[in-house]
Order: sequence, then C-alpha cells, then structure tokens
Amino acid sequence: MLMIQITEEKVLKVLRDCNAVITDSHIVYTSGKHGSAYVNKDAVYPHTKITSWLCEAFAWQFAKQGIEAVIGPEKRGIILAQWTAHHLSCPRIREVLAVYAEKADDGESFVIKRGYDKLISGKKVLVVEDVLTTGGSAKKVVEAVRAIGGKVAGLAVLCNRGGITPKDVGEVPKLFALVNLKLDSWEEDSCHLCDTGVPLNLDVGKGREFLERKKDTYLICPNAKCRGLAYWIDKRAGTFTCPRCAPNEIRKNNQ
Ligand SMILES: [Zn+2]
Ligand SMILES: [Zn+2]
Repeated sequence: MLMIQITEEKVLKVLRDCNAVITDSHIVYTSGKHGSAYVNKDAVYPHTKITSWLCEAFAWQFAKQGIEAVIGPEKRGIILAQWTAHHLSCPRIREVLAVYAEKADDGESFVIKRGYDKLISGKKVLVVEDVLTTGGSAKKVVEAVRAIGGKVAGLAVLCNRGGITPKDVGEVPKLFALVNLKLDSWEEDSCHLCDTGVPLNLDVGKGREFLERKKDTYLICPNAKCRGLAYWIDKRAGTFTCPRCAPNEIRKNNQ
C-alpha cells in the first residue's frame, strides 16, 4: 500500500467531477424540502479507478489497526468492502477478507449470512458505508457484526452529511469520513431559489414530482438559454413571467 495524501478538498473535487456531489443547484429532496446540494453516491461506483482510490484512503486510515475483515451493507457496501480489503491486504502475506451484510426479512435490520458469519466471528472488522445521513444502516451493520462475535474496529465512510458521531453508530472506536458535508435545506414555501427562478434539477431528487404537483404555479421557462423556474400569471391565458431572464416582462407561452 502506498502512502497517499488525501485531503477533503481533493476528494470533493473528485466526487464533483463524477457528479457524485452536486453543488450550486436547485434540488428537491425526498423530504420535500429544497436545497442547493446533493449527494448522488451511485455515480461513484461505475468509476473503478475513483472507487479504488477512495477505498485506498480508507485502508490507509486503518492500516495500523490489524483489520482482518471488511464489511458493508448490500449493495453499495459490497463494492466498498471489496476494494478496501484489497488495499488492506498484503500480497502473499496477509489476506483481509471482504464480506457483506444483507437486509433481514423484517426489511429493517441487517444480518450476516452465507457462511460469512463464521468467517468473521472473533475477527477485527472494519465497517464501510458510503453516506451517513442518519447513520441508521451503518449502526445496524455494526450491531450485526457484534451479534455474531466480530470485533468492530471502526467505521469508514465516504461522506458524513448528517454530522453523525461515533455515539450515533453504536459507539464505534473510530469513525473516519473522507468528506464532511453540511447540506442546508428549507421548506418549499420559503425557497429563495424558487423565488429567483433558479432552474430545478430534474435529474436527481424529486424535482420532477415537485413540478408536476405545482404545475398550476410554475413552468419551465421556454427560453432555451434560461430554462429557469418561471411562474404563471394566468395559466388559462398562457401568460407567465420568468424571474431570471425577463423579470419585468409578461410573456405568452405559445408552446
Ligand atoms: Zn426551490
Ligand atoms: Zn427564463
């Protein structure tokens, strides 16, 4: 394993470049609140070089902890566990195992099956996860590892976006996050991005659903150079105004 210097800024840049972290946008979250940033973890994994690099940073953080196995929650945690264990292993000397936890039948807790339970019982285990929002899944994996007699040595995450502390995730001895992000959000009624017509992000989050629900209030500005969030003055008459490209103009939508 090479010693690598990874800073939070470097990681953020890489995540931005592959659209895993979106900033300066206009996002509708699942909660219905609006905000300007979004973490799209699924965008990381198709890029194996980046995934490997991020997991190498995990491995480096826990290199001296004598980790014997790495585990993550299915499905994304499988990828992280594999790469992290790969970087923690020393060829021909020491193999670090990679396994995963899966959702139990109750759909809530996590269990370790497929013989992996016997494989990591009594071993020093590193738990990996991509994004901590509430820390719920990570905590359940920590509990699942302990339930089968594994010794949790720590938790490594790509992004801690909820200000989660070790206490929130089962008092893990060490919590390491490559990036700490504070994502501000606000109610739709008090969204300054809506007020100023900032284009809605329709690719991630619930932007499309919001627009559908508010179709009597908002429309996408037909000006191809703008595509901002315009609003109807009189939908029947087809008149609207766009705060971005023509704030003082009442226009007619002839689409
Ligand atoms: Zn908004
Ligand atoms: Zn416009």
